[in-house]
Amino acid sequence: RVKERGRGNYGFYQPQMNAGLLSRMQLEHAMRQALANGRLAVHYQPQVCIQTGHVTGAEALMRWTDPEFGVVSPSVFIPLAEESGYIVTLGAWVLEQSVLEAVRWMQAGYPIKLSVNVSALEFRQPDFVQRLTRLLEAEGLPPTLLELELTETILLQDAQEMALRLKALADLGVGLVIDDFGTGYSSLAYLKKLPIHKLKIDQSFVRGLPGDEEDRAIVGAIVNMGRALRIEVVAEGVETEAQRAALAQMQCHHYQGFLCAPGLAAEAFRRLLVTQGVDVPANLPAPPRGG
Ligand code: C2E
Ligand code: MG
Ligand code: MG
Ligand code: MG
Repeated sequence: RVKERGRGNYGFYQPQMNAGLLSRMQLEHAMRQALANGRLAVHYQPQVCIQTGHVTGAEALMRWTDPEFGVVSPSVFIPLAEESGYIVTLGAWVLEQSVLEAVRWMQAGYPIKLSVNVSALEFRQPDFVQRLTRLLEAEGLPPTLLELELTETILLQDAQEMALRLKALADLGVGLVIDDFGTGYSSLAYLKKLPIHKLKIDQSFVRGLPGDEEDRAIVGAIVNMGRALRIEVVAEGVETEAQRAALAQMQCHHYQGFLCAPGLAAEAFRRLLVTQGVDVPANLPAPPRGG
């Protein structure tokens, strides 16, 4: 991942990390312990229809609370796990946990979409599609209720093999989302070649709404492009009503952000589904090309 992922910055002070400066070896060791000892959790952040305010889906976000270090932010431990390769183990765990949870939503009468972040290294595992297919079958989650959040980075290496993999997933019915859209280095050409279903506008472009003219221009352009290409658009990091209203005016479809809720523990998220109400995502037409 390109954004905010400078190498070797694990020693930076994070307000959430009580221990302050930690070596990457200490963190790496603690991370493996955390999974073994049940200190990792998956939280769920609602994705909301901008018009109705109803929940249409949720993003699974990993959480680590350590007795020694306190809350360790994913922006600290995910890059570390990506560099060491441990993300493959962590990612498989998150997929399993969250698919089980999505089956519970479905069984409770809330068939909303589950959105899961997948790192490049996970996606490049030769058996990724096969393992995912098996998991969905074993747990009974329809592939159409799952989306994978990928970054443009994935498309930079092995583009042909990755394109085949994306097509296999799209054929299965799994939704494909470009996360942090606008912050990567790849060209836009992939949008017409690949079966991409959704773009997530990075929060760095949402922050300045409604006042910042440049952010308005960028977000407006992404929403219009999405409409023309029949790709859904989600804005992330929406914190204020004024931001939501600006996005509604630009006819952005969905938002995610503290304005509705942060990532919530599974139980709290289930309660929110009941109080907030859900819109079952409409079956959008397949993307025009590539799919
Ligand atoms: P992301 O996928 O772009 O996730 C969105 C991040 O924005 C989350 O940070 C979320 O808590 C935060 N956020 C949501 N709404 C708001 C808002 O209104 N204001 C602000 N300021 N922030 C908001 P989080 O949970 O710290 O995760 C950071 C990144 O770590 C994620 O960015 C994703 O790249 C990665 N990550 C988290 N969980 C996983 C996972 O299970 N697997 C993988 N591969 N990566 C993960
Ligand atoms: Mg994401
Ligand atoms: Mg994102
Ligand atoms: Mg982001």
